[in-house]
Amino acid sequence: MEGESLAGLSPEELGEALALGEPYRARQVYRWIARGASGWEEMTDLPAAERSRLAGLRPRVDSSSPAARLEDPDGSIKLQVRLADGAAVECVLLEDLEGRRTACLSCQVGCPMGCAFCKTGSLGYLRDLSAGEIVEQFRFLRAAAGRGAISNVVFMGMGEPMLNLGAVRKAIAILSDPRGIGLSLRKITISTSGVVPGILDLAEHGPKVRLAVSLTSADDGLRGELMPVNSRWDLAALKDALARYQAATGERITLEAALMGGRNSSPADAEALVRWASPLKVQVNLIPWNKVPGLPFSEPSRAELEAFAAVLERAGMTASRRMRRGRGVMGACGQLGDTLRA
Ligand code: SAH
Ligand code: SF4
Repeated sequence: MEGESLAGLSPEELGEALALGEPYRARQVYRWIARGASGWEEMTDLPAAERSRLAGLRPRVDSSSPAARLEDPDGSIKLQVRLADGAAVECVLLEDLEGRRTACLSCQVGCPMGCAFCKTGSLGYLRDLSAGEIVEQFRFLRAAAGRGAISNVVFMGMGEPMLNLGAVRKAIAILSDPRGIGLSLRKITISTSGVVPGILDLAEHGPKVRLAVSLTSADDGLRGELMPVNSRWDLAALKDALARYQAATGERITLEAALMGGRNSSPADAEALVRWASPLKVQVNLIPWNKVPGLPFSEPSRAELEAFAAVLERAGMTASRRMRRGRGVMGACGQLGDTLRA
């Protein structure tokens, strides 16, 4: 049990793992952990003898630890988290202009999807994270944030959530449990590169979280060049899966388009997107490509970005330009992994 995280366990599992006896004792420990306690001495309503027994069993609640903290002048905080086996992942706290705080979490060490424009993709894949390791990122970001709660969680860090759906589901169950952390499912977003079986699994079995899809391009040829996933599940299969997800949840789906200058950011690309998305209820998140040294792409010009957005808006689509937050700490989209030389 040494090394395993307690942060990903339900009260029942905690009770068993720690031999807590009475169910109320497990619920008590679970509540402390949900509030952010990391050591047994903090759990002041536990009898002293019980606290020292627990400390002997397991010195700490968390299995990983924050190893480095980078702060951007815009308020974003990136944490590098060292896992028990020595590997590392990153997670980011983003604060928007209204002061709303979003935790961007990783679900894998690296990523196997190999998208051509993504820093994480260029690292390759090492392993999946456990539910506990995912929840721990939330705990560390909450502690790093100091005052003020985190209201949103997005699975937009390192890794492909649909390839680690078991652990992601478990982490979401913990993050949304009203007995504990209690985030609303509507404030949790899973972003996928388009792994169709995962989307269908989620549509059928839940949880009903928000779904975001990295579309990048609505042209099969171009999308295939940029995202290897497209040769496994093409745009037609993806659209079909999204329609089923939408039928199951009734919610709008977010399409993310990382726009690279001169590649996928012309008005014709925008028109293709409008045509492709037409039967779905979507909002589009335009992400100007963030520079990754060594990758053969360039940032789109302001004019390209505005012309692209104008096509979407003329077609009645909501298009948001994602804030370029966290750039100073390489914590922006597609840049995670910069400090990962483990
Ligand atoms: N693996 C999941 C979750 C990561 S989300 C997914 O791909 O959906 C990260 C988002 O950032 C994705 O929409 C991705 O397309 C985008 N992205 C990747 N590299 C980027 C870069 N260098 N600049 C801007 N966006 C990028
Ligand atoms: Fe993986 Fe997402 Fe990066 Fe593609 S964009 S390589 S799926 S993290």
